[in-house]
Amino acid sequence: MSLANGRTYLAIPGPSVVPDAVLRSMHRASPNIYDGELPDMMPDLVRDLKRVARTDGHVAIYICNGHGTWEAAFANTVAAGEKVLVLSTGFFAERWADMAKSRGIEVDVLRFDVGGTFDLQRVRDALAADGAHSYKAVLAVHVDTSSSNRNEFAPLRAILDDLGHPALLMADCIAALAVDRFEMDAWGVDVAMTASQKGLMCPPGLGFVYFNDRAAEQRRRLKIVSAYWDWTRRAAPEMFYQYFCGTAPTHHLYGLRTALDMIHDEGLDAIWARHATLARAVWAACEHWGQDGPLRLTVPDPALRSNAVTALSIGKPLGTQLRQWCSETAGVTLGIGLGMESEADPNSDGYFRLGHMGHVNAHMVLGVLGVVEAGFGALDIAHRPGGVAAAARVISGV
Ligand SMILES: *Cc1c(COP(=O)(O)O)cnc(C)c1O
Repeated sequence: MSLANGRTYLAIPGPSVVPDAVLRSMHRASPNIYDGELPDMMPDLVRDLKRVARTDGHVAIYICNGHGTWEAAFANTVAAGEKVLVLSTGFFAERWADMAKSRGIEVDVLRFDVGGTFDLQRVRDALAADGAHSYKAVLAVHVDTSSSNRNEFAPLRAILDDLGHPALLMADCIAALAVDRFEMDAWGVDVAMTASQKGLMCPPGLGFVYFNDRAAEQRRRLKIVSAYWDWTRRAAPEMFYQYFCGTAPTHHLYGLRTALDMIHDEGLDAIWARHATLARAVWAACEHWGQDGPLRLTVPDPALRSNAVTALSIGKPLGTQLRQWCSETAGVTLGIGLGMESEADPNSDGYFRLGHMGHVNAHMVLGVLGVVEAGFGALDIAHRPGGVAAAARVISGV
């Protein structure tokens, strides 16, 4: 019997739930792209986008997903044949490194525990060994959505400054901007990128690259920057058309306007606190279930967990079975395991992820957890009953 009819819920780590208000603001006739409301709303939109990343720097907007922003960032800062250092705690850092290689950039990767964070001494040693300053950038992912760990940037800035190393500090904030605290200027990040479909609560299709004056200086050093990816005009256009190097993503911009209004009406500090509490409820349930069964959080240390997503292992093939049961029987889609493939589990059937980013509240999170606990029962998966009650206690305590 299926109980899935009713409003379905995509509880994966992006695309996230799009608020009805955002959908409604996109539902309109095509607007004029030459003058009027749409061009007029850009200066405030740009200002409010920068507020989300806590930066007074610049932002370029692209019609692309997160991968496109990686490409955009490289196109403006690192030439083929130059070198970057990638700090990897998982799948997305590795894919970002692949993107660099595909552009002819030389890549050194420092690998750390998936589910842990950077060993700062190893980072320092690698940068100290680069006395010739051949690294043009240090690349690090804020929240690696595959493992759900969260990495800090201020300590990386401190190391670079301490060593007098001029490499740009680049942050992939695609998973958790407007979810987990991120302060671009205060933390000394030079280039940060995100996309529309996670914490920003919009459909996929817009990519954002934030950069400061140091990064803009690097751009001027490069001999070739393709006109489409060049961030210079996009960040300081003389006319509306130049924001996007062509036709604007008209309806997405209306959706984004509404999403930014929602974000700033709630306030970033309140948003971070909401996500932190909801995440604690998720962890309470998962830790409780795992006491008498195979369920494990990928990040053991709560201090290193993101508030946007929780990655879990449960053993092959239970992850896939649970996901199928939840979507077919209960209308909730859980995230697949990503980057966890091994010889014993080539399709990551022993993993799943819970997305809790963006337009989520207590009843949504408790609903997902209730469905997961029901799935354990239906599939006879060993667990300690009462995880939902443990989550409810977190919610009761606010
Ligand atoms: C989602 C995500 C990406 C990829 O974004 P796409 O829009 O799928 O290209 C990259 N990095 C991180 C950390 C992400 O969470």
